[in-house]
Amino acid sequence: MATTRCPDCHASLVVPEDPTATTMRCGYCGSTVVLADAEARRRHAIELEREARLRAQAEAAAAREQRQEARAEAERREERRERRRGRWGARLMTLTAVLAAPTIIAITVFDLPARLGFGASGADRLKQVSAQLATTGCTVLAPIRSTYATGTVSTLLPVQAQCIRVLAAGAGDHRTLGLRLFAADGKELAKAGDTLDPQLAYCAPAPTTLRYEVVVGPAAKGRLSHMVLACPAPTAKGRE
Ligand SMILES: [Zn+2]
Repeated sequence: MATTRCPDCHASLVVPEDPTATTMRCGYCGSTVVLADAEARRRHAIELEREARLRAQAEAAAAREQRQEARAEAERREERRERRRGRWGARLMTLTAVLAAPTIIAITVFDLPARLGFGASGADRLKQVSAQLATTGCTVLAPIRSTYATGTVSTLLPVQAQCIRVLAAGAGDHRTLGLRLFAADGKELAKAGDTLDPQLAYCAPAPTTLRYEVVVGPAAKGRLSHMVLACPAPTAKGRE
């Protein structure tokens, strides 16, 4: 708080706050006091004004910056949320992969040899059965065919007027196989129950093209073999 002295009564006077004031009235004697450093106070006033302007500018800049910061923060938050969502997607994918892995491994590692044709296919069993049946007069009509199968295997079979015997045997997952025989018109002629090596017999009264199916068990996969023998007509006693 600046003070000055009245030139008349020498009272100590407080200089008014207003920096633009160049004179003041003495409160004691009433004479007009010229404020000595009017020029300096004017400069000071200008300085104050400039400072105020600068402060206002700085405040405006700060406010602007704050707004930008808030906007950036909001963007970052949104980005984080999206990333989190992305992470969940990735986690879901990972979970799927983890759940699917055993299946994939089972297929590729344990099942691949069978797919590629290695390992048992039931063919050796069919050889044994056909060798046994050969002693009863059967001959090979369609030789052993081995295949990897996860579903029904369908095969066409042209026959004369003759009796046939269809054999199938499986390996791998194929614990039970079924056999079904169909006429040219699609009618089912014979079927054999679900066993590891089913057989079915049928006597065609005239030349025709038959079709037989080797039916695999549910979700079973692996190799299986099938063949057809031509056998003598069964006697009444040995009829099946
Ligand atoms: Zn005075």
